[in-house]
Amino acid sequence: MSFLYKSEPVRGARWAELFAARAPEIDFHIWPSIGDPEQVRYLAAWQPPENIAETFPNLELVFSVGAGVDQFDLSRIPEHIPVVRMIESGLVAGMVEYATLAVLAAHRDWLTYANQQRERIWKPLPVRTANTRRVGVLGMGTLGKAVLVKLRDFGFQCAGWSRSGQSLPGIECFAGEQDLGDFLARTEILVCLLPLTDETRGILSQQLFRQLPQGAVMINLGRGDHLVEADLLDALDRHHLSAAILDVCSVEPLPQEHPFWTHPKVMLTPHIASMTQPDTSAEAVLDNLRRHREGLPLVGLVDRARGY
Ligand code: NDP
Repeated sequence: MSFLYKSEPVRGARWAELFAARAPEIDFHIWPSIGDPEQVRYLAAWQPPENIAETFPNLELVFSVGAGVDQFDLSRIPEHIPVVRMIESGLVAGMVEYATLAVLAAHRDWLTYANQQRERIWKPLPVRTANTRRVGVLGMGTLGKAVLVKLRDFGFQCAGWSRSGQSLPGIECFAGEQDLGDFLARTEILVCLLPLTDETRGILSQQLFRQLPQGAVMINLGRGDHLVEADLLDALDRHHLSAAILDVCSVEPLPQEHPFWTHPKVMLTPHIASMTQPDTSAEAVLDNLRRHREGLPLVGLVDRARGY
């Protein structure tokens, strides 16, 4: 019985150590070493190998090493094999840090001051406190909820938007298409933490930006394809949005000639808002293997119909 890991090698080496200590009965392989393909029961990958059904006939579980599964072609993974995404405390902690940093940067006009410094302009802007600022998070899943709790504790007036309707103390909760307009109308700093699905692709568009108040800031931490990039540039250039903080882009790395690189109202980071941490993610996978063995529900099981 073996576990095949196909992703970042340093994390793989750490998983190998932890598996050896905690699950010595499982033969652990790091791609491209696969051992006997018939022995492979479990696969963890960012991008699964081609033809996994044919190559690994006894596969029982597929793990995404990331929080999302948008990079998987789910149609190539046989229906009977559960697909599990990454839910682990390290990934959550990293996202809470980054989202808090980004919201505070937006709240305290950090981008304006960076531009002013380059121009040697000493010009204070009015200071508002967090309790007068309305923040909205698209997506109230594992990451969105953790971010909302931290921002609420900072004193921001927080709201979240989900598909099915969530509830969280001290957070105004909106759900579905019918609530989206009201959610946007009250949101001055918007954070996107949605999964990328057929329903959410291109959601950060002109139509959505129009519903935000004048001067709003947009922060995209989900996936690049949530955003219609030309619509963002237009909203920034028409001064409807005052700034954008982007951790993800449609094409990564961002092409050298892309206007985001030099746009004075855009702050960019190279998809580092959060990363799967070696130790805590190995624990999460080992826990799911135990659950699988014992017939218990898996944590982070992907609903193929919803796409997340
Ligand atoms: P979850 O699956 O736990 O949560 C997804 C949330 O989005 C849920 O609240 C869900 O609603 C909501 N949602 C999904 N589709 C819709 C829709 N059509 N309309 C309204 N709401 C919708 O995901 P996570 O919180 O774990 O992760 C979110 C995403 O963050 C990941 O998919 C990934 O793309 C991104 N990410 C980015 C990273 C980075 O470094 N930039 C790192 C890690 C993740 P409901 O509650 O009703 O199901």
